[in-house]
Amino acid sequence: GAYLSNDVTADANYLPRNHVPETLSELALPLFAGAEILGVLDIHCKRRDAFHSHDATVLQTIANQVAVSIQNAQLYAQIVDFSEELEDKVQERTAKLEEAYHQLELLDHNKSDFISIVSHELRTPLTLVKGYGEMLLADTNIAQNEYHHSQVSGIVTGANRMHEIVNLMLDMVKIDNRSLNLTIGQVNLANMFVMLLQYLEQICQDRDLAFSATGIETLPIITADSNALAKLFEHLLINAVKYTPDGGNIAIIGQLLSDNDNNHFDHIKIVVKDTGIGIDPNFHDIIFNKFYQTGAVTFHSSGKTKFKGGGPGLGLAIAKGIVEAHQGRIWVESPEHNEETCPGSEFHVLLPIKTEQRTAQDIVNETGSLPELPG
Ligand code: ADP
Repeated sequence: GAYLSNDVTADANYLPRNHVPETLSELALPLFAGAEILGVLDIHCKRRDAFHSHDATVLQTIANQVAVSIQNAQLYAQIVDFSEELEDKVQERTAKLEEAYHQLELLDHNKSDFISIVSHELRTPLTLVKGYGEMLLADTNIAQNEYHHSQVSGIVTGANRMHEIVNLMLDMVKIDNRSLNLTIGQVNLANMFVMLLQYLEQICQDRDLAFSATGIETLPIITADSNALAKLFEHLLINAVKYTPDGGNIAIIGQLLSDNDNNHFDHIKIVVKDTGIGIDPNFHDIIFNKFYQTGAVTFHSSGKTKFKGGGPGLGLAIAKGIVEAHQGRIWVESPEHNEETCPGSEFHVLLPIKTEQRTAQDIVNETGSLPELPG
């Protein structure tokens, strides 16, 4: 409780203090913070009978407010300490993350180098296998012998598929190095899809798939790289074929889009839609990563257009690289993966009507380094 003495010389309990030798009256009030005592508000006076009993009550109110202020100050100091500590921790973790990121970048770079070397080294011997295989296939002795002819055909088919995969790997390396140089020209998408559908005609007959295209003829001529775009849509269409069971539908839908502000048409959208097995929304981003495939690798059948025939998992990564090189966007929409109900997938491609040719200087500005020369 409080201590009050109006004549300390008469109080045996009074403890004289050196720095206040003239004290004759003293009022000491505890500073409570809840049940805890933070300190004492100690008032001394050189006169006797300085304090009335109601002074103690009034001053206790002040003492309580002082106690609250002290407590607030202490809490504030704690928070400052805590946030400084937190700041240090965040900095420490950020540094660690940066280091890990740098190492991953290095690993990814090594992987790209590895793929680049392997694919370049495989290309020459593969060209030999292909060339000699085709020569043998054309040889009259072999053409007349059905057994040998089918064996050599097998070699040529295999070599062609390997050649396609090596080319996929080379495309991927170019996208990774940002050395995918677009050759910008006028592209008539309607013509491009006619050609692509011709190429897929036989496959669709074999697999009993129906193709339809809407809104493509009304699209304007766009400036883009026609070979790259043909590759992009070939990947999307081949995937639609691969992941749609026999008897399904594949639709290509074209749309002209204006930017919201001034009704100026500046983008086109092309959707490749199938009635296939669909894709779990958890995988909608990750399928665009290189070498990503949802099926187990051991179950791969390597047919390029067979139902669920596996590939190296590069198609969508290359498709994304091509779209981004055109400053466009690509994404997938699909409710779920279900091989019984076949909910289907929609791949959306957004492309500017006008893609500018990027110069070497643009690439330096974007990446800070010169692109690696292919070859
Ligand atoms: P790949 O087809 O060689 O495995 P992609 O990069 O083309 O590689 O595709 C990655 C994965 O995305 C595929 O393994 C498949 O699981 C999924 N996928 C792609 N397109 C479709 C589609 N139209 N329908 C269902 N799944 C698809």
